Amino acid sequence: MEIKITKAEVLKEKPDSATLGFGKKFTDHMFMMDWNSEKGWYNARIVPFENISLHPASTVLHYGSEIFEGLKAYRRADGKVQMFRPIENIRRMNRSAERLCLPQIPEDMAMEIFETFVSLEQDWTPSAEGTSLYLRPFLFGNDESLGVHAVHNATYVIIASPVGSYYAEGINPVKIMIEDEDVRAVRGGTGYAKCGGNYAASNRAGERAAQKGYSQVLWLDGVERKYIEEVGAMNVMFKIGDEIVTPMLSGSILPGITRMSCIEVLKSKGYKVSERLLSIDELAEALQNGTLKEAWGCGTAAVVSPIGELCYKDVKYPINNGEIGETTQMLYDTLTGIQWGRIEDTFGWIKEIK
Ligand SMILES: *Cc1c(COP(=O)(O)O)cnc(C)c1O
Repeated sequence: MEIKITKAEVLKEKPDSATLGFGKKFTDHMFMMDWNSEKGWYNARIVPFENISLHPASTVLHYGSEIFEGLKAYRRADGKVQMFRPIENIRRMNRSAERLCLPQIPEDMAMEIFETFVSLEQDWTPSAEGTSLYLRPFLFGNDESLGVHAVHNATYVIIASPVGSYYAEGINPVKIMIEDEDVRAVRGGTGYAKCGGNYAASNRAGERAAQKGYSQVLWLDGVERKYIEEVGAMNVMFKIGDEIVTPMLSGSILPGITRMSCIEVLKSKGYKVSERLLSIDELAEALQNGTLKEAWGCGTAAVVSPIGELCYKDVKYPINNGEIGETTQMLYDTLTGIQWGRIEDTFGWIKEIK
């Protein structure tokens, strides 16, 4: 494919690693490509980072036709930059696109775009401990008409942001509130798709939890309010006795790439992993009888995030004395080790950037 590159005339100064935060600073360029139902994908281009101009009737502004991805490029000790399982993000983006009637991007085309764009922006990958270059691909319906129908025009964009260490102050287990009113998704809906609308619908519960001093909510299923689904915008895992339990992918749960990677690492080390239904009653019993040893969320941003306390119907349950557990720590060390190139990637997950 041809990607037309227009370089920025003046390059920005790279920010100090200590001030990065998450998603606040952006690189010099962005990737854009348009789609039309007759022409297919066209006009692939890398342009200077700038505001996007949209028609006021653009589909995305009215009907929420938008999907996105999130993945990182990491700087190794030898200076090279590498990505973690980008093919999985491409596949998931295409599954999300299918659900929202947005166009899919052929895998080899999507990979070539990642490689070209990240290669051009790789100097923006910071090198301080725990920092990385976060990539945010997104794709939206862009018809210039208010008619409600499957889109005929769409736009794909990738922006990149150098991000700070999630754990600059050390890994502190988080407090989670179990949400029994709002739901994030239902089977048959868009829960398995990474779409902006899912986030809009989950803000209210997040706000309520924050007001009570909790950092995230634990979502229950939308039908019975009984089975555990996810924690905030992360998948969730529990160590009950010797078994690692994570909710099975039922259609309302986002199939996380960190989740998938945790399962593969755990199985390779001989752990028993079950993807199954886990009810709040089973969890409450395990909390009360002491068999719940560890709990953690998993996602690209934090890798793993240990849960130190669960609150359900105003009763507080501490987990592992509010400390990170050994399995959580093992997963963190293994995944971050592979991502930053400190340990050998025996799984074939790494894509080196030239
Ligand atoms: C992105 C996301 C995750 C985590 O997925 P990763 O691929 O591991 O980053 C989990 N839950 C939701 C709702 C998400 O949007």
